[in-house]
Amino acid sequence: MADSCRSGAFQFKRPGLIVHGGAWDIPDDALPEHRDGLRTAIDEGRRRLEAGVEAVAVVTETVAAMEAHGAFDAGCGAMLNRDGCVQLDAGVMDGATSRYGSVMAVEHLRHPVRVARCLLERGDRQVCMLAGDGAERFAERQGFERIANDELICDRERERYARRRAEEHEQHPSESFRSGHRAADLGHDTVGCVALDHEGRLAAATSTGGTPFKLPGRVGDSPIPGAGFYATDHVAVSSTGWGEAIAAVVLAHSVARDVEAGADPEAAATKHLKAMHTRIRDPEGDGACAGLIVLDRHGRGAWAHTTPRMARSTWHTEGSVWLDV
Ligand code: ASP
Repeated sequence: MADSCRSGAFQFKRPGLIVHGGAWDIPDDALPEHRDGLRTAIDEGRRRLEAGVEAVAVVTETVAAMEAHGAFDAGCGAMLNRDGCVQLDAGVMDGATSRYGSVMAVEHLRHPVRVARCLLERGDRQVCMLAGDGAERFAERQGFERIANDELICDRERERYARRRAEEHEQHPSESFRSGHRAADLGHDTVGCVALDHEGRLAAATSTGGTPFKLPGRVGDSPIPGAGFYATDHVAVSSTGWGEAIAAVVLAHSVARDVEAGADPEAAATKHLKAMHTRIRDPEGDGACAGLIVLDRHGRGAWAHTTPRMARSTWHTEGSVWLDV
């Protein structure tokens, strides 16, 4: 399964957006919840794009809606680490200005993507990435509420955590993105959004709870510009998948660079996902799996994944295209 890369492409008139809700072997019984989460996100982004809101605000609020939804491994409903605690990462980039902001390993923020945007909006580039307690203190100074970690934990994840604790098997993070019967206990639902606003500005945002049962303090690709998200005035990308591999090949930037050089977005996405799968192997010899969404300034959009499934959807002025899961 992981050897194949599935992809799709479309062309739309601006404004428009694409969202994803993770790429893995999403079990059938989790599909309705994922579809509802995608629909909520699309509604949020669409409303803002139609009102003329700029791309960077659109991607932030669309991802914030997914952080609040509960279906995904982001914000409320995120997976627990080995300490039984939620630790969140998020990043956002404005293609028009090349500004970005990201926070990582935060435990007391309901919407890490909004705090990431706050760092982006500082504009002075004195600090763009903040981790842990420092990020939380920054957020509090900006007026964000500090919440108990428990408020981010749902029953579904408590149960998943309990099952994982009971297991002897030490799971490698790459396993979560392959197919198999253990998928339900291994899944990830990192969320992301790329948008092209009515003025042609592009932006990308990604948010995650990371890999299940991760080591406390572990940070993957999601809050790393160029890896989990990237945007220029030409193209925007959000990635999801095995974070250690995505960071190694700076996946989002690699795709963006090719599109800027003239490549078709779907071709660039497929090429780099396949290259990563060939180049980065896990201890069992299986290739690294991931998925991504990409959108360029001409309204050429694409999704691609080497995982069994990927939750994704898009909206543009000519109608909603439910790409689905
Ligand atoms: N890329 C994320 C991470 O490694 C996980 C995911 O996309 O589901 O933290």
